[in-house]
Amino acid sequence: KTITIAIDGFSSCGKSTMAKDLAKQIGYIYIDSGAMYRAITLYCIQNNLFDGDVLNEEKLSQHIKDIHISFKLNKETATPETYLNGVNVEKEIRTMEVSNKVSYASAVGFVRRAMVLQQQEMGKMKGIVMDGRDIGTVVFPDAELKFFVTASPDIRAQRRLDELHAKGDTETTFNEVLDNIRQRDYIDQHREESPLTQAGDALVLDNSTLTKEQQMQWLLDKFNH
Ligand code: C5P
Repeated sequence: KTITIAIDGFSSCGKSTMAKDLAKQIGYIYIDSGAMYRAITLYCIQNNLFDGDVLNEEKLSQHIKDIHISFKLNKETATPETYLNGVNVEKEIRTMEVSNKVSYASAVGFVRRAMVLQQQEMGKMKGIVMDGRDIGTVVFPDAELKFFVTASPDIRAQRRLDELHAKGDTETTFNEVLDNIRQRDYIDQHREESPLTQAGDALVLDNSTLTKEQQMQWLLDKFNH
């Protein structure tokens, strides 16, 4: 069967690893919608559109049509990588600087509308797993299968810290990551435009204590059901 699978949830709860693994298992295409918001944020940083945490929306609105985001498969790792105006930015969009600013860019209405349109366009191919914050509620309200993933903030912070360490960032502390996660949760849940909420028909997965294998089994059970 070819359906659309929407996976939403909080930051760093293992959503993207889960979505990626699930897509691989069932032969679907994985699309990371958060990477698109991160790429816009990187564009804003590169073009000095941020003054601290304040985004110059006026200027961004003039530039938005010049921002093209796409994904290309890295054949070696078999995972999609993010391109900003033709340049591979997969690494740059995962830094703490981008993580700290992304919620401000993704709260802007015209940014969301532009991203949602692109995501819906990508969704026309079916057989996709897309993860994000508003996939089951706004992007694909008719998705056949929706998941909402949660985990405690401490567990999420430890996971994100492990990831940063694995990438060679040894400076960032647990508390910095935890603060960033709490702050992003708050902004994502309280923004005016499509705040992070659970779709009424989403299946909830709290993965605080589940192993990767248990998670996958749970997801596959729901998919095969
Ligand atoms: O999933 P990830 O942590 O990479 O997403 C980065 C940020 O992008 C989130 O904190 C959120 O502000 C924003 N986002 C969003 N809607 C999505 C995906 C991500 O607002 N569908």
